[in-house]
Amino acid sequence: MVVQEVVFNHMRIILLGPPGAGKGTQAVDLSNKLNLVHISTGDIFREAIKNKTSLGEKAQGYMNRGELVPDQIVAEIVADRIQKNDCSTGFILDGFPRTDVQASLFDQILWDQKMSIDVVLNITCDEQLIISRLTGRRVCKDCGATYHVTNIPPIKEGICDHCQGVLFQREDDKKDTIINRLKVYNEQTASLIDFYKQKNILVSIDGSLPKEETFENMMDAVNSLN
Ligand code: AMP
Repeated sequence: MVVQEVVFNHMRIILLGPPGAGKGTQAVDLSNKLNLVHISTGDIFREAIKNKTSLGEKAQGYMNRGELVPDQIVAEIVADRIQKNDCSTGFILDGFPRTDVQASLFDQILWDQKMSIDVVLNITCDEQLIISRLTGRRVCKDCGATYHVTNIPPIKEGICDHCQGVLFQREDDKKDTIINRLKVYNEQTASLIDFYKQKNILVSIDGSLPKEETFENMMDAVNSLN
């Protein structure tokens, strides 16, 4: 007998957590497993910067300093993105919302579009581990694959295993910027944990475990919704 994999339809997930907790990596794996669109606001900005669009110009300064792009700009991008056809069966939001204002704007956007969030997965991680993860992170300039100088090294130093592109360190992964990003997270984003706890849709997941274990725990949390 063939056991059919469960296909999750209309599942809308928010990933919350400090920078470096593993949101991006987990979002990619979850979106593949659950067949959901992965929406990373950070990736949208990085793409805009790469393509030298006016959005990229607006975002670049904030990003390089580890600051947040203004709420209204981010909220509009997300509102447009979740209306696209490919999001009709659901999505995973990675990096949004990041402030109380964004969360309120997003509630309104969801209401207008007759949508709701099923679960907020809050990935927790110790700050020292975050700093070591982020300072060691390297990204392929061509395909965006991520590595870590010691934890996930490429086969050939500085070169992407998948496409042979050159690996680089993101400007915002430099130590001073990371410290600032953590400060910004604590001051502006951490309060969203309570915001979603009060809505009874928050599940906290330990992001300091090996990524496979964290992934399994996230899948358990998603499966337990059904
Ligand atoms: P990330 O890749 O999610 O860490 O995002 C990288 C940078 O993009 C952040 O440090 C911010 O400058 C900007 N950014 C991404 N998402 C948001 C957001 N929801 N609100 C404001 N700025 C954001």
